[in-house]
Amino acid sequence: MTPLETYLRRRIAIEGPLTLADFMGDALGHPELGYYITRDPFGRAGDFTTAPEISQMFGELIGLWCAEVWAQMGSPGKVHLVEFGPGRGTLMADLLRAAKRMPGFLDAVRLHLVETSPILRQTQARALERAPMAPAWHSDIATLPDDAPLLIVANEFFDALPIRQVQKTREGWRERLVAVDPSKDELALTIAPGPGPIAALIDPALAARTKVGRVVELAPLAWRIAGDMGARLSTQGGAALAIDYGYEGPATGDTLQAVKAHKPCPIFETPGEADLTAHVDFTALGRAASSGGCRVSPVVTQGDFLRALGIEVRTQSLVKAAPGATGRQIAMARDRLIGADGMGTLFKVLGLAANDLPPLPGLDPA
Ligand code: SAH
Repeated sequence: MTPLETYLRRRIAIEGPLTLADFMGDALGHPELGYYITRDPFGRAGDFTTAPEISQMFGELIGLWCAEVWAQMGSPGKVHLVEFGPGRGTLMADLLRAAKRMPGFLDAVRLHLVETSPILRQTQARALERAPMAPAWHSDIATLPDDAPLLIVANEFFDALPIRQVQKTREGWRERLVAVDPSKDELALTIAPGPGPIAALIDPALAARTKVGRVVELAPLAWRIAGDMGARLSTQGGAALAIDYGYEGPATGDTLQAVKAHKPCPIFETPGEADLTAHVDFTALGRAASSGGCRVSPVVTQGDFLRALGIEVRTQSLVKAAPGATGRQIAMARDRLIGADGMGTLFKVLGLAANDLPPLPGLDPA
């Protein structure tokens, strides 16, 4: 039994069954035993690989996007560049290197990283050792400064935030909770005895057409953060980019999954030692952001977004500089990022912007 499972069983004994959000929050973010708190999960030796770890082109193109949006904003003398969940810091290092090309941009940038993991903060500090400015770390969006516009980047951040699940039963909507199954003496899902207030958050049209047995996911923390982003963009100005795997809701389906050593595993097998994620409902995320007062762009696929930003041209110039076997690797990395059998269509991009901003490059119809 993992130390975190021992802790969760004690919580359940004291508090009763936990919501999946409590379980997921502890499994990933418990201050001592959480998955992200105790390790660097990325890369071949780790549990999963993300777009910035596949190719430098990903962070570079996002860097050019940021610099272009900054120019659209009228090149303000100060802008807060914020990354949520920066992982190894790879995306930000690539972003800053590419953004040098825009005169004046890096002089304006104040760098902020919203990251809860002490281990990953250290890795990020090393990755950004030679960056033109020192980052300031935050544990929450609330402590970001409010004296200048924001440029926000969040790649594979929202999928790591805790979700709750409700299931349609013959008696109505019931939340799925985490308890200990006494017959097997292991963590297991159970159904709440009554409806509870969470059911009120389900989209009414979806609720009406959902069949008995189906599950709907709700992401209160992701929505709270998106709402805060929207409110800040509308008062401070600026734009945000959220990239993740997910769908345009409303939809039903259990998307909670655990991954260990690049393979799916049961969610209760080794709590605290496997990554847990849920697909992002971009419609709900956009709605939360717009309730904060910002503009929301239509959702586009990662493939279309990176193509619009010029990934083909960037691939060609990298291949030209490194022909042969390396050239083939660069082309393969491009295919993984934009191909339909890679991340190209499963991954989506959501743009948020202050209302006075022109169309966002690669996202809004011009
Ligand atoms: N963006 C990176 C890492 C994605 S993994 C990449 O693309 O490679 C998720 C990241 O979010 C990790 O850095 C993790 O530590 C961080 N994270 C998870 N929950 C968080 C929270 N509630 N607040 C801030 N960071 C969080």
